[in-house]
Order: sequence, then C-alpha cells, then structure tokens
Amino acid sequence: MGSNLSFEDIQPHLVRMAILENETGQRLATGILLVTGDGDKQNWSTYAEKIALENIVQQKIDYPFSMAPVALVAKYGYETKQVDRSDGLLHIQIKKSVTVKFTSPCPWEIRYLTNTKNFEHNPDGSFFRIKPTKGIIHWTANEAVGANADAHYKYFNSDHVAYPSNANIFVDDKKILQILPLWAKAWHVGAAKYNPGWNNANNFTFGIEICVNKDGDFKKAYQNAVYAMAKSLKECGLKAGDFDRHYDVTGKVCPAFFVDDAITKRFFNKTAAQAYAMFRTDVNNVYNLL
Ligand SMILES: [Zn+2]
Repeated sequence: MGSNLSFEDIQPHLVRMAILENETGQRLATGILLVTGDGDKQNWSTYAEKIALENIVQQKIDYPFSMAPVALVAKYGYETKQVDRSDGLLHIQIKKSVTVKFTSPCPWEIRYLTNTKNFEHNPDGSFFRIKPTKGIIHWTANEAVGANADAHYKYFNSDHVAYPSNANIFVDDKKILQILPLWAKAWHVGAAKYNPGWNNANNFTFGIEICVNKDGDFKKAYQNAVYAMAKSLKECGLKAGDFDRHYDVTGKVCPAFFVDDAITKRFFNKTAAQAYAMFRTDVNNVYNLL
C-alpha cells in the first residue's frame, strides 16, 4: 500500500534510523524516526503522523518508514520506552495492548436543505436519488470573513441563489455540515462541456466543499475535509481512491489549491500537485482506519 506521507521542513539532524517494536520485541516498523518533534513545524504533517502511527500500531499498513516521532508517540498517548539492544539502532518499544480508536476531528452536523427551489427533487419534494460512484472535492472560492459552512447553508437554502447550485457537504474549520444526503443528487459539477467520461457527472457523484473563509483555520478545515471525504466514500461503499477534483470533471480551477501553483502557495508550502497528492494519501490513510 502507499506510504507517501508528506513531511514539510524535516531537519536532517532530527532524524535517526530506528526500530519500532512491540512489548515482545517483535518489529512493527523500521525506518526514520524524528528524535524530537518540532512543534512549530508540525502543520499538515502532524495529522499524517498520527495516522501513520495508528496504522503502524494496528499493523494495517506495512510502512517502510515508521514516521513515529517520540514526541508524537507521547502526545497521542502511546506508552513507549527506549530499549538498548547494543546494535547502534534506536529501539522504541510501544505498548502492545494499546487500543486505537479513530474519531472524527470535528462534529458532523446533518441539516438538509428545505427550500425545494434549490435542489433536485421528486414531485413530492423528496430528494432525487442517485447512486454515487465518485466523490468530488471542491473549494468554495470565497475567502470573505464569515464565509463558513453555516453561511453557505444559509445561502443555498435562500431564495436568492444566483444559479442552481449546491453540494452535499460543506466543511469548515469547526465542523462538517451535510446539507444533502450522499445519495441525493447535488448540483456541484454542472457544465456545458465535460472532460471525457464525466458527462452529467451530477448524476453519479457527491460533492464536498472546503470553506476558505479567512477568519477560519485552514489547517483544521483541511483535516476535517480529509475525514469527510474518507467517511463519505466508505458510507457509499466506494474505495479510498474513488474521488477526483472538480477540475478533473470540467477543467474548472477547483479546488484552486489543488490545481494552481500560485494559489496553492497561499495555503500549503507545496505545489498544487504535491498538495493534492498529500490530500489523496491522507484520505486513504483515514479511510483505512474507519
Ligand atoms: Zn468546484
């Protein structure tokens, strides 16, 4: 399985070869271990590290690199001790009986749209059912103060929606707000022209929008979006990789921080391709823990 977790700003002098092992000395993972965590630089990767660690402990994924900083092991509550085996390697013993439970990083609120003008529905007003085979990730492209998930609900349930549009889920730094069931048709990738294979993609996709209001904590919104995508894919019976960008469907620059390098720089210390690769890896890792 993939193990390309991204790390930013790793400093070589903090890195040592190490063995992560269980109480009986059985090897769980071998690789690079950050001897000291650097709190200021644990931005996106902190979440990835936690996920990697949980995977290692559960032995769900055979990572070639352990990526388990001692500081983070302590931080996330795993009991560890250093063992001297006189082989020049750093041995970290992790308590075998540790139980790992992955929980949502934020509340998941369900508050469906009620204004039938703004969503596709049956004659009796009920949601129009589809069977999603793909998830689609978006950004709201609205950096205005207050443009969070609640604000988008308010807008998309109002009588003033400029053109027919919505999505199934809006994620901000505080919560995941689901405004349509995953099986309900949303208007999130409508277009005059589609990329090959994507015609009328609203009929077979669900959409998740990441809010980028500048008064929000984007790092948190990113993490919440990772969870929202992983969980939604699972609930739809899809695989961890069964999602794409709005960009892949129609060519629209959305989410811009996974498409356009200049815009990406404002959100991640990465190129757009690197940021999107990280998102895909993070979704995969969370999915495997659900
Ligand atoms: Zn979009």
